[in-house]
Amino acid sequence: MTFRASVLTLYPEMFPGALGLSLAGRALEAGTWSLDVTQIRDFATDRHRTVDDTPAGGGAGMVMRADILAKAIDHVAPANDTRPRLLMSPRGRPLTQARVRELAAGAGAVIVCGRFEGVDQRVIDARNLEEISVGDYILSGGEPAALVLLDAVVRLLPGVMGNELSGAHESFEGGLLEYPHYTRPQEFEGRPIPDVLTSGNHGKTAAWRREQAETLTRERRPDLLDKR
Ligand code: SAH
Repeated sequence: MTFRASVLTLYPEMFPGALGLSLAGRALEAGTWSLDVTQIRDFATDRHRTVDDTPAGGGAGMVMRADILAKAIDHVAPANDTRPRLLMSPRGRPLTQARVRELAAGAGAVIVCGRFEGVDQRVIDARNLEEISVGDYILSGGEPAALVLLDAVVRLLPGVMGNELSGAHESFEGGLLEYPHYTRPQEFEGRPIPDVLTSGNHGKTAAWRREQAETLTRERRPDLLDKR
């Protein structure tokens, strides 16, 4: 089953971008997922193809119009399209690996990329858009956020990751950050690989990695430990 991604944007040239290369790019070519990109401006009605207007109540910047965006959404995803409708937004729920897994298990996603100050609240309400944030900082547009979300989803689609096992131990999967990695050479600028990793003792290696993961998580992301 192909995961169908539909992106709505004022900058279609930004797609597939980084997702046209490497794992995601190969999976796109293989048909593991599909991507259609819609120019929101094509749904403008005036001569200047206007998609934004000044904020009601005053203030700086411009706001994307509800009517134009709704028309674009309805064209891409009619009422009987069951895919989740996402709006990339710094006000959204922060994206988690758990939500990424859910999305990857579904039929696809309709992803709206905001620009300017954001989009008119009424289209968010009327089209039931799920606001998703990629972090507590402000991007100039939703496109890089959409690329981040799709990258995280696509690598989980069946057959995309070469070594299926490599997903299971990663950061967040067990509620912990991942342990540190090492590879050859045995010594780098006077720093050796920790002995336990070259001892061949699988039990001790697993225990060491576990302890490292817990220490790192306690130091850097105590919030993850609270959630477990
Ligand atoms: N005025 C808004 C920010 C608008 S930034 C505010 O203060 O909340 C313009 C667009 O970039 C947004 O509509 C959104 O689509 C996207 N964007 C910016 N930061 C983002 C983030 N952290 N996560 C997801 N999308 C983001």
